[in-house]
Amino acid sequence: MGSFRSSKSSDSSPRPSNGTFSSSSSSRTTIPGMMGPKERSPFKVLIVGAGVGGLMMGLCLERAGIEYAIVERMVQPSIARSSIQLSANTLRCVEQLGLLEEVMKIAKPVSMIKLRKHNMAVIGKMDGTYCKERYGHYSCIVQRTEFCQILMSRMPPGKVQWGRYVLEIVSGNAGVQCRCANGYVEQADILVGADGAYSAVRQNLYKTLRERNLLPKSDMETLKFTLKGLAVHIMALSNLRQQGDLLTPERGKDVNFKQSEFGPEAVDAVCALVQDLEIPWGGTMADLISYTDRDCITKLMVEEKHYKTWHYGRTVLIGEACHKFTPFSGQGAEQAILDVICLVNLLYRLDENPTHQDFCSVFETYTAQRGPIAKSAVQVSNSMSHLMNTQGLSADMKRKILFNLPNWILSANIDKIQVRPILDYLPAVEDRGVRKKSSKTHHAASVA
Ligand SMILES: Cc1cc2nc3c(=O)[nH]c(=O)nc-3n(C[C@H](O)[C@H](O)[C@H](O)COP(=O)(O)OP(=O)(O)OC[C@H]3O[C@@H](n4cnc5c(N)ncnc54)[C@H](O)[C@@H]3O)c2cc1C
Repeated sequence: MGSFRSSKSSDSSPRPSNGTFSSSSSSRTTIPGMMGPKERSPFKVLIVGAGVGGLMMGLCLERAGIEYAIVERMVQPSIARSSIQLSANTLRCVEQLGLLEEVMKIAKPVSMIKLRKHNMAVIGKMDGTYCKERYGHYSCIVQRTEFCQILMSRMPPGKVQWGRYVLEIVSGNAGVQCRCANGYVEQADILVGADGAYSAVRQNLYKTLRERNLLPKSDMETLKFTLKGLAVHIMALSNLRQQGDLLTPERGKDVNFKQSEFGPEAVDAVCALVQDLEIPWGGTMADLISYTDRDCITKLMVEEKHYKTWHYGRTVLIGEACHKFTPFSGQGAEQAILDVICLVNLLYRLDENPTHQDFCSVFETYTAQRGPIAKSAVQVSNSMSHLMNTQGLSADMKRKILFNLPNWILSANIDKIQVRPILDYLPAVEDRGVRKKSSKTHHAASVA
């Protein structure tokens, strides 16, 4: 690790009074010194990765008046029409950012989940209607790309630098620098690794920690595949827009160092692999594939892991870079956004000239607050994966019981993970749920 002078915020000019580029911010009422965008950015944040976590981080910093830059390896926004889930836990913050109406236009509320056998007979149902009344919102499925576009539309142009493939991080006591494949270098006071499951930032961080004997053994282990064999998951959305996710575990060394499998080549390869499989209602997978748009098919790696180490020096991780989920429980985007809310709230409270130690304390608090919750979410996601995919009589029985539980038992479990945090520096929005979150779970509000 080298050391160099920090790029103290180059943009130290006073910000516009509303501090945002959104048309939807007019209703903001600012309490001087307590809320609203800072007059001058006290430091600069470099975000690696323009996925849901990185873009949400950028937008929350934008509204906080904290300078930031996002570097992304792809040359343009992804076109793959894959889906993410958003629930009451994150939609409250989405509303604070003034995005709720637009997000609801692209959202598909989940009012019911039906689990079917191979012959399409319904094994059990889960009613989702009570979520709206109890927590304030339905759980919603939204297209990942459309949601990312909404986030980007609220940032000034040029904030995302496309085609910057980060290879190396150099960190010192005065700042941090990232070096990209094309020789491009960007520096800032702190760096947020939002670069997904095979995070280059994490790999750089862990290399340093390993050399210093500071990396826990479990963090040296590779991502784990949750399911054995091949699972094909087909998600049918209303209005006849069908979406298929083909899921396949793979083996091999160094899976942590593999690049993300999202992309057209991965889709072609997995389609070739499954095309001859017979489907229960007649025909083969080739038929299903031929009726589906290629950009509606995604290959997902059924891997999961909760990392213990989320930060070191001036670098911190968010989203799938520090907790990887299987897609079955829809936790990936949710947990990334919860990370962002917690981290930005803590950063906002830093004084004008934060020291190296101040940043380290913020990262420590962030990890202490978010780590245990993300760990439980990985465990819940693991149980969901097995519940939905394990075959055999006992698995069928479990599914039958669980999918026919009365709402009051289901909601008792869901109550435990209801946090619905908000951004402290923006005016609060109404908590629309009749079931209020407990103070114990409102982790984002308690600070170091
Ligand atoms: C194209 C795509 C499709 C997805 N489809 C689904 C889906 O169908 N269902 C589901 O449950 N989840 C899906 N996910 C994952 C889901 O989006 C995440 O779980 C969730 O949004 C939180 O992710 P994140 O922001 O932490 O990371 P991600 O969403 O994975 O974003 C990470 C970003 O970092 C960029 N990046 C990676 N390495 C580097 C590097 N070295 N330098 C610069 N940039 C880098 C990536 O290109 C990506 O844009 C998908 C992710 C991607 C990238």
